[in-house]
Amino acid sequence: MIDFSPSDEQLAFIETVDRFMDRHLPIEEVRRRDREHIPPYDLLPAMGAAGLFAAGLPTEWGGLGHDWRTVALIQERLGYRGYMAASIFNRVIGFGAMSLLAYGSDAQRRVLLPRLVEGRLLIALALTEPEAGTDAAAIRTRATPQPDGGFRITGRKTWISDAGGADFLLVAAREPGTSGAEGVSMLLVPRTAPGIAMTRLPKLGNNAMPSWDIGFDEVAVGPEALMGEAGRGFRNLMSTLHYSRASMAATVTGCAQAAVDGALSHAKERKQFGRPIGANQTIRHRLADMQMRVDQSRLTVYHLAWLIGTGQACRRQAAQAKIIATECLQYVAEQGMQILASAGYAAESDMQRYWRDARLYSFGEGTNEIQRDLVARELGL
Ligand SMILES: Cc1cc2nc3c(=O)[nH]c(=O)nc-3n(C[C@H](O)[C@H](O)[C@H](O)COP(=O)(O)OP(=O)(O)OC[C@H]3O[C@@H](n4cnc5c(N)ncnc54)[C@H](O)[C@@H]3O)c2cc1C
Repeated sequence: MIDFSPSDEQLAFIETVDRFMDRHLPIEEVRRRDREHIPPYDLLPAMGAAGLFAAGLPTEWGGLGHDWRTVALIQERLGYRGYMAASIFNRVIGFGAMSLLAYGSDAQRRVLLPRLVEGRLLIALALTEPEAGTDAAAIRTRATPQPDGGFRITGRKTWISDAGGADFLLVAAREPGTSGAEGVSMLLVPRTAPGIAMTRLPKLGNNAMPSWDIGFDEVAVGPEALMGEAGRGFRNLMSTLHYSRASMAATVTGCAQAAVDGALSHAKERKQFGRPIGANQTIRHRLADMQMRVDQSRLTVYHLAWLIGTGQACRRQAAQAKIIATECLQYVAEQGMQILASAGYAAESDMQRYWRDARLYSFGEGTNEIQRDLVARELGL
């Protein structure tokens, strides 16, 4: 039987998250940053100093050696308190640190992991292109090998989260003449390298996680930019997706619980016809269904974190957790909007923010259609 009860150390991490959020990102600040589209990059060093990034990394690389059960709890709590801290945590740990650990060189790990742990480094993933979204293996951005072992990169990436605040872009680019998953290399490109032109994209939600369109015009990088073996980048990237899917699933589970709690307190406080609206069976049942979906999502995330933490195969469970958690958040935010009615539609309402933000997650990090394909494939179809 699996025991999901948090240890004392894990509870201490949850308290650390609460202290961090109380001090740096109380709910008024989350609302302000969302309203004014201000990302939380300035808070990275404070998150590092609080030990949040160190928690799930191996001790040999400056971490505290906890496994993914702790990471998932931190991520869920950050998501509960405000998505922007959770999404930046996902970028640093679920993507940045896990990519370095999975296929970075020792030299890259030695230099970059301590900076990640301290909150002094941000890496953005630049995979998607205008003509290559779900079909990521159709990317066209070229990385032409140079005689010194370096590359020249030309192409365009789009919808790249947090690229404007990143120190490096981890760019997926292919050797000319190759196609599909073959010939793709992952290149760590300094964001300020000559030949890079960036434009911020206006969008519906996740306002404090800016998205960027990026042009690469003969951007020159040295051999040290290559992360993992040349030509194996696509496989390397795919091998780490379960981490970022686990991170996303934990984040949106926290977010979904916040939406349920918000709807619940509104249902208790708001009176119509002389009694709380929560006294009506239609509202009671809605809230019951909402909490059941969140509990289901949480258990799925904890199970996935347990599989990762104990080194077991989890491709299917990562896809399932991503689907269940992201669709749970959409469901509870939609129900929450109905329960709050005009109070939810108001610009300052947290519910409308959950509702807008939720729209991203069922297609970000691999669309849920493709996740379902993956689940079906794992079932032998
Ligand atoms: C806010 C935001 C942040 C993002 N952050 C990043 C980032 O940091 N880095 C990055 O590289 N990318 C990022 N992306 C891109 C994101 O990963 C893509 O949007 C996603 O992969 C889907 O691609 P697409 O939008 O081009 O949709 P499309 O590929 O055009 O798909 C459209 C629809 O068709 C469906 N579809 C396509 N093919 C199939 C199929 N074979 N079977 C069934 N259904 C199919 C899809 O599931 C989807 O419903 C971000 C996007 C957004 C909006």
